[in-house]
Amino acid sequence: MKGLPSVEKAILALSRFPGVGRKSAQRMVHFLLRGDGAAIEQLVHALESLRQSVGYCVDCHNLAEGERCWVCLDPGRNKSLLCVLEAPADLMAMERAGVFRGRYHVLGGRLSPLDGIGPEQLHLDSLKSRLQEGSIQEVVIATNPTVEGEATAHYVAQMSQPWVTRVTRLAYGLPMGGELEYLDESTLYQAMQGRRQF
Ligand SMILES: [Zn+2]
Repeated sequence: MKGLPSVEKAILALSRFPGVGRKSAQRMVHFLLRGDGAAIEQLVHALESLRQSVGYCVDCHNLAEGERCWVCLDPGRNKSLLCVLEAPADLMAMERAGVFRGRYHVLGGRLSPLDGIGPEQLHLDSLKSRLQEGSIQEVVIATNPTVEGEATAHYVAQMSQPWVTRVTRLAYGLPMGGELEYLDESTLYQAMQGRRQF
């Protein structure tokens, strides 16, 4: 935006968000600039506390405000079940659906050699340590039903098999290429109920 470099900078930053184009970004910036600046103040405050307070759980790599996430801190969770997924957003979807009472392990991505993501880039070492502890009996693999997600599932399955009695994969009644994060709750429920032995 000519003559308003700060406005342009804010539009550019917002238009990088998923699902937000330049037009929506412009609307957001104009909304923020209305009135006495209270909206900007609130946003700055929220972002600041996001930066300062949110990190990753030392056990499962889920988002956490503190050393461990709320799932790992919950004594009511079944410690013999471990659900392995790609990202914290997938975990949130699973929690929203309320279909799983075990604990999680977030890989932080999926194997994708073309993008330079190999096993070393994922949280697989910490997964192995957790498996070696010996209290996990079933690993439920819930990577996305994409080509990379499937490849990752196979890798995790092979790695887990020596340590657990059962390795299962979510049953997807879904098209390949879908993302866990966007599934409705009943689809996720079906997928968890119909999980199959790997
Ligand atoms: Zn955790």
